[in-house]
Amino acid sequence: MTTLPAKLQAVRARIADAARLYGREPAAIRLLAVSKTWPAAALRELAAAGQKAFGESYVQEAVGKIDELRDLDIEWHFIGALQANKTRLVAESFDWVHSVDELRIAQRLAAQRPMTMPELSVCLQVNISGEASKAGVPPSAVPALAQAVAALPRLRLRGLMAIPEATSDFAAQRSSFRRLRELSQGLQADGLSLDSLSMGMSHDLEAAIAEGATLLRVGTAIFGERR
Ligand SMILES: *Cc1c(COP(=O)(O)O)cnc(C)c1O
Repeated sequence: MTTLPAKLQAVRARIADAARLYGREPAAIRLLAVSKTWPAAALRELAAAGQKAFGESYVQEAVGKIDELRDLDIEWHFIGALQANKTRLVAESFDWVHSVDELRIAQRLAAQRPMTMPELSVCLQVNISGEASKAGVPPSAVPALAQAVAALPRLRLRGLMAIPEATSDFAAQRSSFRRLRELSQGLQADGLSLDSLSMGMSHDLEAAIAEGATLLRVGTAIFGERR
């Protein structure tokens, strides 16, 4: 059986290969281990192997792990659907939220972020493939939401996130990620200072790297199929 640290190394090797191929600076690409459904012990094993940033999708489950792993220096990223009644727990426990797609949710996070903590880093989730079933703001609504979120206290707007329609076609993967990058470049041209593109998962991280991803969210390729 392949151990967790070995699978982590294999993903890191994929990232390094893609960075070389597409002329990206490896240090500009960060890996989030998406640990939803996996127990704290698995995260601890990966942390010992040098993995310090984790992505979680379920607030209650995540808060339990954050508590259990207090002794480690982990950066916690919330990447799941965020309901209004869970914003306080997220504002009080996480370093990043990737899945903001409504001003009302951002306002709650801003109001609830404790003054004793650094600003909460935020990405706007964009419905880049226009799928009716998917979360995220439509691309046309991104500029107005980005300006509104950037103006909120206690939050720091870092960039955009997307989960494109699943496809094994590399060119199609790249074209979705390219649209997200171009959207982000448009916001920067409008004066927003952004440094993050959260895109790329187990099956499409190479295409995301080719198009400028700075935060890869990888679950299955590290942990195996979710239970
Ligand atoms: C689960 C999840 C991932 C990880 O997907 P894998 O295919 O397992 O790598 C990435 N992003 C989000 C938002 C997720 O919910």
